[in-house]
Amino acid sequence: MLMKHKNISATIASLLTFLVFTSFLYAKDQAEVQVSAEKLADNIYMFTDSGGMGNSTALTGNDGVLLIDTKVADSVDKLLAKIAELSNKPVRFAIITHWHYDHVGGNETVAKTGATIIAHENVRKQMGIEHDMKIFNKKAHPAAETALPLLTYKDKITFHMDGEVVKVFHLEPGHTDGDSVIYFKNANVIHMGDLYFEGLYPYIGIYSGGTINGMINDINQILPIIDENTKVVPGHGPLSNKAKLVQYVSMLATIRDNVSNLMLEGKTMEEVIAAKPTQLYDEKWGKGFLPPDKFAGLVYMDLSPELP
Ligand SMILES: [Zn+2]
Repeated sequence: MLMKHKNISATIASLLTFLVFTSFLYAKDQAEVQVSAEKLADNIYMFTDSGGMGNSTALTGNDGVLLIDTKVADSVDKLLAKIAELSNKPVRFAIITHWHYDHVGGNETVAKTGATIIAHENVRKQMGIEHDMKIFNKKAHPAAETALPLLTYKDKITFHMDGEVVKVFHLEPGHTDGDSVIYFKNANVIHMGDLYFEGLYPYIGIYSGGTINGMINDINQILPIIDENTKVVPGHGPLSNKAKLVQYVSMLATIRDNVSNLMLEGKTMEEVIAAKPTQLYDEKWGKGFLPPDKFAGLVYMDLSPELP
């Protein structure tokens, strides 16, 4: 056991080195970040940005703007400016998919414009406490009261705006313990939040209730709701569809099984990483935020009986 913990510490140190470096890159890039809009339906747009922050989506009709996720504090003005090009209505509601900084960073700014922030009840809980984010080598401090969701829900909540039915629901803990998925029923658009990273290995919020098993289970519950015409907005990465989401969940399940089998053989974290349990998928998924060895290490930590 002692040996195993030693190896976990060594890998955490290497995760730290990489992830801290990544955060630095993000910080440096913020000033030049461009936010762009992609039309998904008559009044629905997806907003990506050149800094790799969380994707946002907005419904922009006569009943006011319904926004999903507020990106980071430094780019929310660019997001709001883009929305203002598409609608002369104020942001009325902002639904937050989960508490991570690149999805809630603009909350205060958006709330100041008069919008109501809405999220699963665990988002308010997680935003209100201090997190020691060990693998990012930083602490997330409790958010200001004005950044917290004003309205919270437990299982589901539905918005009726501009003839659209917007179903917001929470499944079992997946990326975190407070994930929301937002389905625009009539337009057939679904915003997945960080349950789905398209084209890159996903971060798993293991310190706030997230697990790869939950992510897989949640996606498997969502797949029957959508069809081949559904526009699927991932939390990170480009606009996607059902076929690609199926490939993603299959990738997650295979890597989960590979890591799990190696652990059953008694392999340490170092040995699991050395066995390259992600290899089959690295060409397509391994060139993003988390390179293959870090993702394998993260899955190992997730599947370990106790978090390091
Ligand atoms: Zn996240």
